Amino acid sequence: MISESVAAFPIEKIGKDFPILQQEVYGKPLVYFDNAASTQKPQVVIDAISDYYQQINSNVHRGVHHLSQKATDAFEASRETIRKHINARESHEVLFTKGTTDSINLVANSLSQGMIKAGDEIIVSHLEHHSNIVPWQMLCERTGAKLRVIPINERGELIQEDFEKLLNAKTKLVAVNHISNALGVINPIKEMIAKAHASDAWVLIDGAQSIPHMKVDVQDLDADFYAFSGHKIFGPTGIGVLYGKEALLEQMPPYQGGGEMIAEVTFEKTTYATLPHKFEAGTPHIEGGIVLGTAIDYVNSIGLEAIAAYEQELLHYGTELLKDRFPDLRILGDTEHKTSVISFLLGDIHPYDIGVILDKLGVAVRTGHHCTQPIMQHFGISGTIRASFAFYNTKAEIDQMAEALEKAHNMLA
Ligand code: PMP
Repeated sequence: MISESVAAFPIEKIGKDFPILQQEVYGKPLVYFDNAASTQKPQVVIDAISDYYQQINSNVHRGVHHLSQKATDAFEASRETIRKHINARESHEVLFTKGTTDSINLVANSLSQGMIKAGDEIIVSHLEHHSNIVPWQMLCERTGAKLRVIPINERGELIQEDFEKLLNAKTKLVAVNHISNALGVINPIKEMIAKAHASDAWVLIDGAQSIPHMKVDVQDLDADFYAFSGHKIFGPTGIGVLYGKEALLEQMPPYQGGGEMIAEVTFEKTTYATLPHKFEAGTPHIEGGIVLGTAIDYVNSIGLEAIAAYEQELLHYGTELLKDRFPDLRILGDTEHKTSVISFLLGDIHPYDIGVILDKLGVAVRTGHHCTQPIMQHFGISGTIRASFAFYNTKAEIDQMAEALEKAHNMLA
């Protein structure tokens, strides 16, 4: 039975907010199911980009002139919007970065300058995107610290008993994602953060996949760091956020040097700016920062609770439909706690071949390893077909995908 909130979800109106989704590809209505890779932008976001360049384009934090003041005010107002959205205590705990990858590299590079040392241990999970693995491997190479890995079970869930066994006095940091991009599995991060803190370890959460789908409260989670990307939450590419607890960010040395991040420069000694500027060297992605606030306002105008309920309905509908229709379909990450991602294989057909045929029938899905090769190694496969839904998708589009899959199946099986 469909809940009242799902029945009342304004899907007709929302669909019209996204001009890119109105097009046809190869003569078929476009069905965009690659939202875990990047999301589409509503008209308000597109307009805000052009408004910025038409009305206030100027460098921030520098000029006394009118435009620079306006740009600075808008940039800082957006930081405050983001602070509220994730319930950070202070807006200077919200750092603008290029995206999740950049946020994680910032933390890894800064901590490697003396705060993590040879013999220390970093825990990641088997479920991570490469961007939450490789920066830590690089840190380990630089510092002599050791990387430990939380294993996963056959449903793609982190094995909590093994996580507890990995934690010890040498553990300095735990880096895990909130939601797996490859499988959609939601990790019990609040409990994991508490366990890590009991071992005096810091925790970085990769929130790239959670931020568009659920309400995140960094204080309630007690996360030390929380990273996400603007382009996954209906905002521009090239902008993202690193939330960090003030006390920790104060302790950490800057990652990059340059303009904006200094208090005073002499050839003898340079002193650094206060937060957040200490970690924002150079001219930032001003328009991206401002418009990320617009994107978040747009999401909040619909409401993340309503979005989550609607997306869960799509997930259940799609999962049941595909399971019924294709007896040889195998879903990877088939667990109760997951977001709107269906990652699957059809018989022994190569995912790429399915992806190409689906594309010709108007359906955009992702195929391959999804930047998570260790997960694929765990399941002994080269990749999956991944359909990831956003709140602008519909059941009719899932029907179109099922039809297209049927054709692909008949051609290739
Ligand atoms: N982590 C996860 C879980 C992701 O899904 C992604 C993007 N696919 C990233 C990190 C990297 O994000 P970005 O490329 O925006 O830096």
